Amino acid sequence: MHWIGLPCPHCGRTKAYHRIPSTRYAPAAPVAFGGVLLALIFDRSRKPQFRCESCGTVFFSHTIASRFFLLFWAFFVFWMILLLAVLILVPLYDWIADLLGL
Ligand SMILES: [Zn+2]
Repeated sequence: MHWIGLPCPHCGRTKAYHRIPSTRYAPAAPVAFGGVLLALIFDRSRKPQFRCESCGTVFFSHTIASRFFLLFWAFFVFWMILLLAVLILVPLYDWIADLLGL
């Protein structure tokens, strides 16, 4: 819901902008790692791009939706790191226990 007052960083107007397609590269790593759905979440979590109608400035700004997806993304990354840590630490613990004859 970006229409509730995103100020243009150049002229400060809050109503004279519209969202434009992002010029940034498509995320390749999340596609390879977690598929299209994950890539979509990652893409949605980045700041959308806007163009001010009154001065032509192109700028990035978070919206409520992109902040929501950012939170979702951060939550997902957090659990992935935790899962990876467990997957690495549990066999490591077993290996050390074996080594020490426990
Ligand atoms: Zn402007």
